[in-house]
Amino acid sequence: MNAKNKTRRDFIKTGTTAGVGATAVAGLIPKPVDAQETVWDQEFDVVVVGAGAGGLAAAIAARDEGASVVLVEQNFDIGGRAILSGARVYLGGGTRLQKEAGIEDSPEQVFYDWCLQDRPRNRYNDRELAWNYAEKSIETFDFLTDNGVDWQSLEGRSPDRLDSVPRRPMPRQWPIESEVIIPAQLGSGLMRPLEKSAREKGVEILLQHKLTSFVREQPAAGRVLGITAVEVDKWFKPQDRTTNIRARKGVIFATGTHAGNVEFRRIFDPRLTEEYQAHGDGWVELNGDGPIAALAVGASLWGTAIQTNEADAQLSKGRLATRSNYHALAFPPSAPNFFREKATGLSVRNWQDVILVKENGLRFYNETVGPRDYEYFAAAMAWTGDRKKLNGGGPIWAIFDADGVEREGWNVKPPDVDPDGYFYTADTLKELAANIDNKYQWRPMPGAALRETVERYNSFVDSGVDDDFGKPTPRYKIQRPPFYAAWATPCVHESYAGVRINTKAQVMNVHGEVIPGLYAAGEAAGGYGQHGLGRCFVYGRIAGIDAARDGAE
Ligand SMILES: Cc1cc2nc3c(=O)[nH]c(=O)nc-3n(C[C@H](O)[C@H](O)[C@H](O)COP(=O)(O)OP(=O)(O)OC[C@H]3O[C@@H](n4cnc5c(N)ncnc54)[C@H](O)[C@@H]3O)c2cc1C
Repeated sequence: MNAKNKTRRDFIKTGTTAGVGATAVAGLIPKPVDAQETVWDQEFDVVVVGAGAGGLAAAIAARDEGASVVLVEQNFDIGGRAILSGARVYLGGGTRLQKEAGIEDSPEQVFYDWCLQDRPRNRYNDRELAWNYAEKSIETFDFLTDNGVDWQSLEGRSPDRLDSVPRRPMPRQWPIESEVIIPAQLGSGLMRPLEKSAREKGVEILLQHKLTSFVREQPAAGRVLGITAVEVDKWFKPQDRTTNIRARKGVIFATGTHAGNVEFRRIFDPRLTEEYQAHGDGWVELNGDGPIAALAVGASLWGTAIQTNEADAQLSKGRLATRSNYHALAFPPSAPNFFREKATGLSVRNWQDVILVKENGLRFYNETVGPRDYEYFAAAMAWTGDRKKLNGGGPIWAIFDADGVEREGWNVKPPDVDPDGYFYTADTLKELAANIDNKYQWRPMPGAALRETVERYNSFVDSGVDDDFGKPTPRYKIQRPPFYAAWATPCVHESYAGVRINTKAQVMNVHGEVIPGLYAAGEAAGGYGQHGLGRCFVYGRIAGIDAARDGAE
């Protein structure tokens, strides 16, 4: 009897099957699952993993083709990082919205602006994937519109950075307040309509289930037959129950960025050690599960040179006193994930109000530079001179005083700050340094060094010149207690490198061959350095259509 024929009833449930998932969760690369031993609990035409941008698009597109579809999501809610996003969608090329605003555009122009212009994250692009994205931009926009996204007009908009004409449509906000995760972000205006449409069309959504492995006929040969998932609690902790879901036509994974997986992201940049957190990891785990499970069944990585920190949007500097600190990630205490997030963070209006020091108490750069300055990150990640910590630059702290708090109008108490490792206060700088007890602060901050740094900085305020790092006219002394130290370590934003796919979103192996039955989309797939949602929707939709047609498109 082969795996295709087995059902749960053919087996007495033993620890063997349940153990597969548990073993898989423990290691970085899951052990190959024995297809012959797999007992299928459920069966669908198409199994989609990850209910974010790529996954919801894939699920709807597959359903539109008449496939039965299950969408498996580890979180307690759909949305992925897409629901936290600013929702400026990188689509253009002559969309209906552009035409209504009298804007002329073309796929060729999209291709040039976003995929060819010479800058670090375009330089190493797979141009076939990039061109396909540019070409399918219009139909993807129509697909989102048909599935309920209500767009704001582009009239009066100026072109954004890198764009020769206005593009990047933004939705209106979702009207049901309780379903909006971050009110200031429009991501719910994209993801809630898609969720509604998916449910209405009959996509089955399985929440709090985490992919642990793909089941392939043989470890590195044959078709991908389905997935193993484990039930997880609200902390993503695996529970006892695993479930094996068979896919008659295809498995699609759109599990998002691997930015939160230290070992995996260090494949691309070894400097990105554990102190760097990832944007949005208090909402969903950003663990690279999809690519890692795909590597275990023979997938190749692709376009790895694109995933460098020189490519903008990789690391960014943002809010203070909270762990995952993108400037726009201001979770209100009412957010359903606040129990994981713990603090809203302090938004900095004027970087003259703080200095930034490394774990050794020393300044390292001009604090006023923009949030995505590569030279800033190179300095942040530079070696601080101790052989015990050669990779990564260690934690970075914003240091300020009572006057700084007043000028910024900050509330330096929870829920705005996270005192559990990310915010400290004291009446002297020496005590402040001694109080810092964060798990990434690998040695105590030397109090004398911090005091000398502040004294030297205060002398720059007197002279009006920052002799060390050229901060333009340092304005305010740090002198009135209490003094504060707030977490300001840059965070990793997203992934441009992932598994290799072709223009049909089929996953490929190192020999350039398709792995039958396996598809990937979104940030889990590699190939070109296009930021954000556009490429996730484009390739999610392609994967859904192609999987439902069983690769026959
Ligand atoms: C604050 C912020 C602002 C942003 N603003 C913009 C913007 O304005 N414009 C733009 O274009 N982009 C923006 N982005 C980026 C954009 O949100 C992402 O690029 C996009 O959401 C990626 O889509 P995806 O489908 O690859 O992953 P996601 O949308 O993150 O979805 C992945 C899903 O997979 C699930 N998953 C992961 N592992 C498993 C597993 N093992 N089992 C089951 N499920 C799993 C996750 O829980 C998640 O729900 C922003 C991102 C952030 C965080």
